[in-house]
Amino acid sequence: MKKYKPYVKKYWYCFILGPFFMVLEACGEFILPYINANIINIGAANRDIPYIIKNGLLMLLIAGGMLLTGVLGAFFAIRGSARLSAGVRLDTFAKIQTFSFSNIDDFSTGSLITRITNDVTQIQNFAQTLLRGMFRSPVMIIGALVMSFYLNPSLAAVILIVVPLLALAIAGIILTASPRYGQMQKALDRLNNGIGETVTNERVIKSFVREEYEKKKFAEVNEKLVEKSTAALKMMLLIQPVSALVMNVTTLAVVWIAGGQIMAGSMELGTLSSFIIYLTQVLTALNFLANIVLQGTRAAASDRRISEVLNTEADINDKGARFADRGVERGSIELRNVSFRYFKKNKEKVLDSVSLTIEAGELVGIIGSTGSGKTTLVSMIPRLYDADEGEVLVDGMNVKDMSLRGLREGVAMVLQKNTLFSGTIAENLRWGDENAGDEEIREAAAIAMADGFIQSFPEGYETELGQGGVNLSGGQKQRICIARALLKRPKILILDDSTSAVDTATDASIRRAFREKLPKMTKIIIAQRINSVMDADKIIVLDEGRVAGCGSHGELMESCEAYREIYHSQKDGQEV
Ligand code: ADP
Repeated sequence: MKKYKPYVKKYWYCFILGPFFMVLEACGEFILPYINANIINIGAANRDIPYIIKNGLLMLLIAGGMLLTGVLGAFFAIRGSARLSAGVRLDTFAKIQTFSFSNIDDFSTGSLITRITNDVTQIQNFAQTLLRGMFRSPVMIIGALVMSFYLNPSLAAVILIVVPLLALAIAGIILTASPRYGQMQKALDRLNNGIGETVTNERVIKSFVREEYEKKKFAEVNEKLVEKSTAALKMMLLIQPVSALVMNVTTLAVVWIAGGQIMAGSMELGTLSSFIIYLTQVLTALNFLANIVLQGTRAAASDRRISEVLNTEADINDKGARFADRGVERGSIELRNVSFRYFKKNKEKVLDSVSLTIEAGELVGIIGSTGSGKTTLVSMIPRLYDADEGEVLVDGMNVKDMSLRGLREGVAMVLQKNTLFSGTIAENLRWGDENAGDEEIREAAAIAMADGFIQSFPEGYETELGQGGVNLSGGQKQRICIARALLKRPKILILDDSTSAVDTATDASIRRAFREKLPKMTKIIIAQRINSVMDADKIIVLDEGRVAGCGSHGELMESCEAYREIYHSQKDGQEV
């Protein structure tokens, strides 16, 4: 509950004025039938027109007041609950920003989206219902009961019997329904996961003509959601008919008893009509309370799910770092016996006792089959993941002892999957350095061999990119991403298969430019093509998470079987 406190405090007037106006409106609800009874019993019975007009006007005035207080109450309830949810949404979003990749993997992206949207909305709906009804409904029930006792105690006894019975029935329904709501929420998670994955990978799906398969997969989770939500909602639907039944039976009983009393002359007609209104009010208020409890159980499930996010400490942080003010200065790297698994339960290690050293300014190639752990290995350097065993050192310091921000500012990683944003090319490049001047931007683009093609566009650096850079070729996108990383002026640059769509000659020119223009920067290039790493100062060969060899091309050709295999598989039959 702690998470809501700041917002309740900040918008305290909504949380006081909302219920206050709603209670005020409720007072009108039980005064009106009383005046109504008087008009019939006194005014109409005695044909006292001035009495009827006077009381009629009074009813009108009260109805007007109820409209005003009702609107004000609803306004403050809506404002308070919307503010509360906006605050919680912002906090949850900020928390997710601190998460490491493995935190996000643990939750799944779809689940995080559901929590920040659907779950927060549940809290908002509940807060709104609560503000509108938490005092109003009990006041209505008590007020209507008092008034009906005042009008006719023996009839009021009927209500006293019925109310607990109905309350019990509603409680039973809610108890059965609430676990089903939990399952419904889980089904919604799965649906959102599916949507997230499909929409972000639409291109791949299209290129593999997997639309039908995806549709089928989606239909299945969609069906599951229908099944789970029907199971939950059909229980809730029972509340309405059960209340109606109780209402009708009670009305019948009241009319039966009242009929006898009216015939005997001990009760007036106006009293009966007002009595039925009070009865309706009590049952309606009871329904509203049931709704509060129901929304409360849903909101409690959502609250737990939001708390899980808010209470998760980002597993990668620099609390307790010994040199919390230190970032990367030179760019040397050392891995000492590093082992890592994505799923700690798995026996197989993704990295198995990896040890290696990279000097500052070196150009290092990493090669190995898909799944051999290349990406995982380099992810250890900017601490996208932390090693399970062993140490990762940058500039001789354990990365866990450095400032996380300083470390990540010093390491630029161009990932396999490149992401560009809508906006101009220049704007995208300035992600690397928002203050970069035109000249610096061009320099970086020239090293990444991107300047030429950018200049050939009619709008040059001001060319607008579609979302994700859709109007560029794969190779062009890759080069812009490299230029963007260079503008960060990192001490360590990691290219994770990021020239795969660039032709061999341009690829070689990029590496030549790296050597000539960026001699001090440590450069790590992961590549599939042996050509891309052959001329590196040092090549690391990975095989099933282990270092199978490390050295120059010549050394590895002599000493490393795995390297020779890769070499021959790519070069045989080609001119070397
Ligand atoms: P490479 O870059 O050499 O192709 P990766 O480092 O990407 O290899 O992957 C190594 C192994 O780790 C693979 O078996 C892959 O399936 C697994 N893996 C990679 N990323 C994740 C992740 N986020 N969660 C779970 N497993 C992963």
